[in-house]
Amino acid sequence: MFGRVPKRSDNTKYYHVLGVSKSASQDELKKAYRKAAMKNHPDKGGDPDKFKELSEAYEVLSDPEKRDVYDQYGEDALKEGMGGGSAAHNPFDIFESFFGGGFGGGGSSRGRKKQGEDVVHTLKVSLEDLYNDTTKKLSLSRNILCPKCKGKGSKSGASGRCYGCQGTGMRITTRQIGPGMIQQMQHVCPECRGSGEVISERDKCSQCKGNKVSQGKKVLEVHVEKGMQHGQKIVFKGEADEAPDTVTGDIVIILQQKEHPKFKRKFDDLYVEHPLNLTEALCGFQFVLTHLDGRQLLIKSNPGEVIKPDQYKAINDEGMPQHQRQFMKGRLFIHFSVVFPESGVLSPDKCLSLEDILLPTPGKLKKDVALDDCEETILHDVNIEEEMRRKEQQRQQEAYDEDDDDVAPRVACNQQ
Ligand SMILES: [Zn+2]
Ligand SMILES: [Zn+2]
Repeated sequence: MFGRVPKRSDNTKYYHVLGVSKSASQDELKKAYRKAAMKNHPDKGGDPDKFKELSEAYEVLSDPEKRDVYDQYGEDALKEGMGGGSAAHNPFDIFESFFGGGFGGGGSSRGRKKQGEDVVHTLKVSLEDLYNDTTKKLSLSRNILCPKCKGKGSKSGASGRCYGCQGTGMRITTRQIGPGMIQQMQHVCPECRGSGEVISERDKCSQCKGNKVSQGKKVLEVHVEKGMQHGQKIVFKGEADEAPDTVTGDIVIILQQKEHPKFKRKFDDLYVEHPLNLTEALCGFQFVLTHLDGRQLLIKSNPGEVIKPDQYKAINDEGMPQHQRQFMKGRLFIHFSVVFPESGVLSPDKCLSLEDILLPTPGKLKKDVALDDCEETILHDVNIEEEMRRKEQQRQQEAYDEDDDDVAPRVACNQQ
């Protein structure tokens, strides 16, 4: 029947194309093809040649007879007709048949697979976690395709079309509501509950009772990397609920950073508040700050340096590590406040000695101004925010009143 005995030629290419070993099972082939075909589909911007190659490889290897020929004699043998049938199928037919769920079994022809929904979880992390990195285990329960029947729901692997609805999942009933008036109602088929198929009692899978899915536990190891941000997403592809004829969605973990009692974070910088008393502000200070990795930082002023209230100082490279460039770090900013002594702490003679130190030219003020020519004043305590609020209210009230005044003259003008 064949012109000549085929020579032994390359018989590993198809395995390479699908990225599986020569001993790959049908399941492994299916998985490999599904993944690669989704990725390389021309509709999704994939390379058509690559897509064709994948389909060709899958078509051969998924057929035990063809696979056998290929393993023994290679690609050329198949082209010469061994193994029956031509190897030049339309690659899109293979893809369609695959994702339409029609492979090998009668099944419904409901077109392409649905896209399953993504499942979103938030994961609370501390600033320490984001500084140092950590791995968190997240235990989730999710639907998985029943492992016993592989999501078919039946022992035999077949699923029967529902007679009640002819596989549509919907039923239409009509009733006469008056002479010549017929009402048509559409409702979900009660026999198959909308799925369009029924599995006979006897054929139902003993594990999932025909539901096709069962509850599974899944422990996700979430690796929180150094420098990740609040709100950052970590995606576990295809780990959400499984369902028949559905491309499994993703589990998306969103990081949520807990407030830190000491450090605030802005991008890659850290901020810390530090109060100084007046003496420290004037004469120098030194304190120890425990960093997010437990290191003790000694922070001190330069000799002779005076810190003013609301002043910032920065320490380079002690901020947050940058994500994926962990050796690059932001800055640590220290925001100083100055706590002044209470009134009455300084006696008049202590004030005199302070004056000697702090006044730029001691005694200047008193000599230059003729105090007898001045008017005495009294200083009152005020809450300035309260004052501003009251001022603002007053201003709004006046603006409102003025608006009222405006109207009258304008009308008067028009009448003239
Ligand atoms: Zn039905
Ligand atoms: Zn089952």
